[in-house]
Amino acid sequence: MNALAATSRNFRNAARILGLDAKIEKSLLIPFREIKVECTIPKDDGSLVSYVGFRVQHDNARGPMKGGIRYHPEVDPDEVNALAQLMTWKTAVADIPYGGAKGGIGCTPRELSKSELERLTRVFTQKIHDLIGTHTDVPAPDMGTNAQTMAWILDEYSKFHGHSPAVVTGKPIDLGGSLGREAATGRGVVFGTEALLAEYGKSVKDLTFVIQGFGNVGSWAARLIHERGGKVIAVSDITGAIKNPNGIDITELIKHKENTGSLLNFSGGDNMDPNELLVHECDVLIPSALGGVLNRENASSVKAKFIVEAANHPTDPEADEILSKKGVIILPDIYANAGGVTVSYFEWVQNIQGFMWDEEKVNNELQRYMTRAFHNIKNMCKTHECNLRMGAFTLGVNRVARATVLRGWEA
Ligand code: NAD
Repeated sequence: MNALAATSRNFRNAARILGLDAKIEKSLLIPFREIKVECTIPKDDGSLVSYVGFRVQHDNARGPMKGGIRYHPEVDPDEVNALAQLMTWKTAVADIPYGGAKGGIGCTPRELSKSELERLTRVFTQKIHDLIGTHTDVPAPDMGTNAQTMAWILDEYSKFHGHSPAVVTGKPIDLGGSLGREAATGRGVVFGTEALLAEYGKSVKDLTFVIQGFGNVGSWAARLIHERGGKVIAVSDITGAIKNPNGIDITELIKHKENTGSLLNFSGGDNMDPNELLVHECDVLIPSALGGVLNRENASSVKAKFIVEAANHPTDPEADEILSKKGVIILPDIYANAGGVTVSYFEWVQNIQGFMWDEEKVNNELQRYMTRAFHNIKNMCKTHECNLRMGAFTLGVNRVARATVLRGWEA
């Protein structure tokens, strides 16, 4: 099941549990605006090339729309649509005053030079500048884009509208980016895990963890778990997997990866079969790489008691069912990886305030938002007798529905 089908299914279940009026349900599903633009740029050799750029603005009932811009050859309008919708529920779960959006350009960024990427980003910004803005739609980096991309959008947008740092988040610190943004998603994963474990009278320091993916999210989550005394007993990335039943020294592993480019052959652990990682014996499994990795084939062999979905859509609906029957507790992606967008919100607030927070304040506020959202989800679980995924979806959908009704329907 693809991202669009899974998101729509979760939305419809939430709407049914909440008893949403059919008119509101339909209005919440249809995107506010879909933008498709042609972006033609001269390549470095002088030839002209055209790309198609998209921006789907899903909903703005709770505030400006928020979501990433990805550069990827398979950017497809249906997927962008699903991801925009997911952002609407995610920002509502985190209770930050935003709606949802997502965008992208169908291109292969590694085949473009830096100056071609800059031209493409500027042309895309020229085409959409009157439809995005600090109080309308605030893009951020996603797959294939980064802080530099946001810097170009900020610069191009500001030519039309004056200096506008809050038009994008995920910027370089020198241009108004927030301290703590790089670690925010991984840190949010750990705050969410702590809130979940506290419900069961457990804490990070007493448990074993397995982490798939050692990029931005996975490596920060691993580092913070290690700092708290938790035992990370197996880790994988695209290069392979390693394990150590006594706990991996994550600080040393990061150095090893920097030096060798791989996790493999680390002196503080043994290489292992990456296919075995997700079904390795542990207390908490944190998929932090790809979607759909937990599926019908492997779900019944999973031994973890808790799964924290740091990646988007790591558990397909069939696996969800199998794991629920086994009593595995799943902390859903819509909440677990919301730390990134929450600190993006702090970045936007700092830009509007014209005042930079120190990193401690950013991290403390992130913990407050993540912990509060967890308790809000638990309350929905109690009210509607549902699991954490439905607790999160009903929380998010209900908040957006309430805002929509309060705004009224008259033209
Ligand atoms: P990243 O590119 O920095 O890291 C991805 C990691 O996954 C890398 O270590 C890569 O080697 C590993 N990987 C790729 N294929 C693998 C495989 N087959 N087996 C094991 N590992 C594999 O990406 P990221 O920013 O860390 O994002 C990870 C996930 O978290 C994605 O699903 C992303 O959508 C989601 N997410 C990220 C953020 C954020 O702020 N970065 C926010 C929300 C959600």
